[in-house]
Amino acid sequence: HKKRLQRLLRTPTVTLDGVQVGLLANIELAEDAASALAAGAVGVGLFRSEFLFMNSREGLPDENTQFEAYRTAVESMKGLPVTIRTVDIGADKPLDSRVAEFETAPNPALGLRAIRWSLSEPSMFLTQLRALLRASAYGQVKILVPMMAHAREIDQTLELLEQAKRQLDDAGVPYDPTIKIGAMIEIPAAVLMLPMFLRRLDFLSIGTNDLIQYTLAIDRADNAVAHLYDPLHPAVLQLIARTIHESREAGVPISVCGEMAGDPAMTRLLLGMGLREFSMHPSQLLQVKQEILRSDCGRLEQLVRPVLDAYEPDALEAALERLQHD
Ligand code: PEP
Ligand code: MG
Repeated sequence: HKKRLQRLLRTPTVTLDGVQVGLLANIELAEDAASALAAGAVGVGLFRSEFLFMNSREGLPDENTQFEAYRTAVESMKGLPVTIRTVDIGADKPLDSRVAEFETAPNPALGLRAIRWSLSEPSMFLTQLRALLRASAYGQVKILVPMMAHAREIDQTLELLEQAKRQLDDAGVPYDPTIKIGAMIEIPAAVLMLPMFLRRLDFLSIGTNDLIQYTLAIDRADNAVAHLYDPLHPAVLQLIARTIHESREAGVPISVCGEMAGDPAMTRLLLGMGLREFSMHPSQLLQVKQEILRSDCGRLEQLVRPVLDAYEPDALEAALERLQHD
């Protein structure tokens, strides 16, 4: 079985009806980029930069340490896009050096995490943005910002990016002036006001892990409620479908980088919703590709409609069954 999958490594990812699909990799360390390329990824869709911060015992990594890590990833990908997410610290990913600060939050998942923390530490954030910009001189870097929900958060982030660019200009340091910046869509409020994101940003990526957590009010790290953590809850499906649809209508690139993207049981569903870019753990790439090669997007787009119209569990199950096997 493994051998048969391995034969798909260099097969282009195209559906039966000729639709091209992009399969990218999620990585946690710069060194993982080489294995992502070897696994057949056409880019990195999510580089979780917080691991650089969490693994750093002596405080936060400085600009050069970050720059070297980002450049390593970018150069390993040999011109393919590398989407680097700004730190997603807090909740399930506390900072070793500042654990106390995060542990005293009444509810860390709803607290000062991700972009909220970055904006509360502007000099730390500017340092990361400069490191990202500097790496963009060595390949195709895109900046992805986690957990945004407020227009102000987007605007402040864009202002800080401009400030970082000016600092590099003043120092005569090269970077890609056309660098793209996008947001993770992982809070239901962001889906409900998507035009605000579409107007301001270059691309979006759906973080299904957190989107499920915040839609269903289920802590993704709490075993006591793990049985209620349901990617196929109709509310979750509506939010994902709506995000893909509205982004496509607006001509803004949209991908999924949460666990759902790497689950071959979800591939047909996401294709049917119109998704054309998936980012996942490299070990999942060939299984998902295999599903795509035997899918017909036109057919799936029809089969997904009854799935999105179903509210009752029985009706939903029947519609999903048809989508999987028809
Ligand atoms: C997500 O929330 O789906 C996601 C990709 O980010 P993380 O799992 O790192 O929170
Ligand atoms: Mg997330």
